[in-house]
Amino acid sequence: MSRDLIRALRALGGALLDFGVPPHCSLCKAPLEEHERVVCEGCWSKIQVITGPYCAACGSPSDVPASTCNHCENRTLRFDRARILSPFDETIQGLIHQLKYRGKRSIGQRLGIMLGALLASDGDSGDLDMIVPVPLHPSRKKERGYNQSALVAYAMEARLGIRVRTDLMTRTRRTATQTKLNAEERAKNVAGAFQVTCPESVRGQEILLVDDVLTTGATVNACTQALLDAGAKRVSMAALAHPFSEAR
Ligand SMILES: [Zn+2]
Ligand SMILES: [Zn+2]
Repeated sequence: MSRDLIRALRALGGALLDFGVPPHCSLCKAPLEEHERVVCEGCWSKIQVITGPYCAACGSPSDVPASTCNHCENRTLRFDRARILSPFDETIQGLIHQLKYRGKRSIGQRLGIMLGALLASDGDSGDLDMIVPVPLHPSRKKERGYNQSALVAYAMEARLGIRVRTDLMTRTRRTATQTKLNAEERAKNVAGAFQVTCPESVRGQEILLVDDVLTTGATVNACTQALLDAGAKRVSMAALAHPFSEAR
């Protein structure tokens, strides 16, 4: 059988499957409405956006505005402050999983618009000169086909009117996955893994780093250090989620 014929039969099979099984929400498995894609509006509405007071350092919800939470008193975060869209619960975890491991780029765009709107409503992003997504190692980016943090950053660019730069910094070392490492091991794992390739564009600039998840802060700390060493004036960060209880 020719390759073209096999391909045509596969496409026909896929079309028949699509016809027989209505598309369902990737998170709650409910059937999707005609206007919905990948995730239903019910699941989108479950995102717990952090709109109230939050820790000045890590962005976790806090009762006391502009103070530092218990976790942050005992750790060194090099960036000025973090703004987090949501606590790392089942909903945001499911969305980020679809974005990172299921190729659903549109989720990154929508989450980026939400994160951009949050920063815009804070009203203190006016001094930012640029948005820099945390770079992936080139080999990992090749595997995935895109940098999920860059998708989020570009959606924020549109909302905030602040330019995204993906050409200033690279990840020079492909680091081991961090999920099973503690805070100290994570810091060691990523130390020196980032390099500023264009210091003249960084010097004197106020930079917002964007990552998908802020965990211990080790990765963003390493990026921040590289940017400060290159002469950046200030570095802050924004992320989609932060598992506050794991951040100790
Ligand atoms: Zn759903
Ligand atoms: Zn904190």
